[in-house]
Amino acid sequence: MKRGLLIVISGPSGVGKDTLIRRLLEVDKNLVYSVSGTTRQPRPGEKPDDNYTFLTREQFEALIAGDAFLEHATYNGHLYGTFRDRVERARSEGRDVVLKIDVQGAEQVRRLMPDAVFIFVVAPSEQELERRQVERGSESPQDLASRRQIAGREMTYAAEYEHVVTNDDVERAVGEIRQIIEDARRRVT
Ligand code: 5GP
Repeated sequence: MKRGLLIVISGPSGVGKDTLIRRLLEVDKNLVYSVSGTTRQPRPGEKPDDNYTFLTREQFEALIAGDAFLEHATYNGHLYGTFRDRVERARSEGRDVVLKIDVQGAEQVRRLMPDAVFIFVVAPSEQELERRQVERGSESPQDLASRRQIAGREMTYAAEYEHVVTNDDVERAVGEIRQIIEDARRRVT
């Protein structure tokens, strides 16, 4: 069986990556999302092992020591990582795997797997990004401020991504990402 693709999606906090990925998975049944591990607290409504596998710092560090992560990084004081076995299992079953990871994680994946597909999602404007961050309302003012600072830094990494997609409209942006994925599928066949 043909090994599945690895699709890396990054972008500043609040840009709408979760919504885009949710929609992508609905419309493309060969895609599978690799649920990451994190030490951050669940947001209201987030389900364990659905949004994230929520871990203590001790558990996370033990997993790092056991080489369980394909990549891992610290974002806003919390650890986040991609489980190597989840990605490998899905890809070996021929499924195309979507990762939603920050720019540091993407950098590690780029070194390990340069043939992955790298997509950076941006907002139509800085004002619109700020509006979406506030609208989400899930972060404390302090958290929001540090996420904004990180977002500013992350934007400077957009140029390192093969594809930059503007999330101006969910359906349009999903259509553009689907086209990128279709092109990548054609390249490997
Ligand atoms: P959030 O706390 O908003 O869910 O995620 C914060 C940041 O961590 C986002 O940029 C998200 O893409 C990133 N992230 C989520 N999972 C992972 C992961 O497994 N690895 C890395 N490096 N970043 C992740």
